[in-house]
Amino acid sequence: MLTAILLVACGSDMTPLPPTATGRPFPEATSLPPTSPPEAADPFELERQAMVEEGLIGWGIDDPAVIEVMGIVPRHEFVPDEFLSQAYRNHPLPIGFGQTISQPYIVALMTQALDVSANDTILEIGTGSGYQAAVMAELVDHVYTMEIITPLAEKAAATLDRLGYDNVTVRNADGYFGWQENAPFDGIIVTAAPDHIPQPLVEQLKIGGRLIVPVGPVGGIQTLWLVSRINEDEVRTQNLGDVRFVPLTREES
Ligand code: SAH
Repeated sequence: MLTAILLVACGSDMTPLPPTATGRPFPEATSLPPTSPPEAADPFELERQAMVEEGLIGWGIDDPAVIEVMGIVPRHEFVPDEFLSQAYRNHPLPIGFGQTISQPYIVALMTQALDVSANDTILEIGTGSGYQAAVMAELVDHVYTMEIITPLAEKAAATLDRLGYDNVTVRNADGYFGWQENAPFDGIIVTAAPDHIPQPLVEQLKIGGRLIVPVGPVGGIQTLWLVSRINEDEVRTQNLGDVRFVPLTREES
C-alpha cells in the first residue's frame, strides 16, 4: 500500500536523478514481472462491516466465529438484483415465490444458538436463497439443506456452487421428515415456521445435538425454540424469544 502511494506521489513531475557518487548511472529500470491483476475490491465490504457492527454486535451477538463469518459471506450474492442496494440492511428481503431471505441478525442469532463445531454435520430446513446455508458452511464440515420450492432450490444450489460452497448439498423436498440417509445430525436449523416441533427432526438429532426452530401460527408471532437432545428419550427446550418466519408448508399428498 505504501509503495503504491509513493509511486503515485512521484508521478510525472519526477526530475532525472543525478548519477550516483561513484559516477555510474543508475541501472536501467527493469520491467516488473507480470503479476495477476489485483482481486476486484468488494464494493459491499464497508456496508457489510457496518451491518456486523450495528446490526449484530450492537444487538448482542458476541460469538467471535459467527461475527467473523457474517463479515465474510457476501449476502448481496443471495438477494435478487432489484434489492441489491438493500443487501446489508438488517431486515428480511423478498426472494420470490412469497419467500424471504432472513434478517442478518436472525441468521446470526440462530447460528450462534446452534453452537456448532468445525466437524459438525448440520441439516437446514428451508434453503431459500442459500444464505443461511453459506454462513453455516463457513463454520462446519457439511451442510445438508432442504427446500420445498423447486426453482428456489435450483437457484440456491447454483449460487452456492458459483461461490465455491462445495460442502453444501441442496435437496428439493419437504423437509418436515428431515433427511434420514444423512442422519443423525449435530444440529438442525429450521428457517420456516411449523405449528409444532416436527418429531422426525428431533429423532434425527445426535444425543447432545441441538435443533433450532420457530414454532407458531401462520402470519403471527412465533416462538424460537432451542431443543437439545439429552438422551434417547429426553429433550430440553429453551425459549429464545419471539420471531416472525414464513410458514413451513407441507407437500400435498
Ligand atoms: N434460510 C433461507 C430463508 C428461509 S425462507 C435463507 O437464508 O435465505 C423459508 C424457506 O423455507 C422458503 O424458501 C420456503 O419455501 C421453505 N420451506 C417452507 N416449507 C418447507 C418445507 N416443508 N421443506 C423445505 N423447505 C420449506
